[in-house]
Amino acid sequence: MFKFKYLVYALLFFSTAVMGYHAWDDHHWASMSKPFTLQIIDSMTDDWDYPFNESLVLWSQSSIFDLAITSADDKTKTRENCKMKKGQLRICNFDYGETGWWGQSWIDWDSNGHIYQSRIRINEFYADQFTFDNKNWLLCHEVGHSMGLWHAEETDIPHTCMDLSERAESSTPNDHDFEELELIYNHNDSYDSYTPGGMGSGMGSGMGNSQSSGMGMGNGKRKFRTETAELPGGGMRTIHTLLAPAL
Ligand SMILES: [Zn+2]
Ligand SMILES: [Zn+2]
Repeated sequence: MFKFKYLVYALLFFSTAVMGYHAWDDHHWASMSKPFTLQIIDSMTDDWDYPFNESLVLWSQSSIFDLAITSADDKTKTRENCKMKKGQLRICNFDYGETGWWGQSWIDWDSNGHIYQSRIRINEFYADQFTFDNKNWLLCHEVGHSMGLWHAEETDIPHTCMDLSERAESSTPNDHDFEELELIYNHNDSYDSYTPGGMGSGMGSGMGNSQSSGMGMGNGKRKFRTETAELPGGGMRTIHTLLAPAL
């Protein structure tokens, strides 16, 4: 009888934890120990220095990882290609044209679901729509995705940049985000996927057959799109696209 009671309590606790869960399909970087340091490639122009650096400082408050800029290349061609590099996260801004989106987080992941390379692209085509608050929210939001977080509710207090509101109060992570990261990364893996090592597989924009796609909307008007496809060289690629607001 007592055992049954404990089981019920355990189930209740579990379902409570699931309700507030906002992991991105359990995607995460593999690491044999925590904290680990993820190398960031700075491919952003100087006018993005504040939101860029600030987002890295904010997320590095996590007990799980540090985000360290280890190389920088903001040449026009580099930002346009925004080539992913194995074991690293590259962040770029460029005028990618009238694509309909503000920003994207790309993650390439192996058969264990472990992210082994990532890139974030910010589309300068919509630069005249970006306010100071938008930029802080956008950078913080996309970096959160690249580390494995999914969207939070806009009603969450305190607010977080993982919601879809783009408001000033939602330009930083909150304690719940850091708790989620501890849940997602609550184990040590048998290998490291954050270690740079040559060129990543499935480079460039080549995609295999698209396997699934989804569209969604926040409480407001903000829309996003998620696509997953098989990479020709093995592994999978998921792209989260944050659409420009409907005008
Ligand atoms: Zn793992
Ligand atoms: Zn998002």
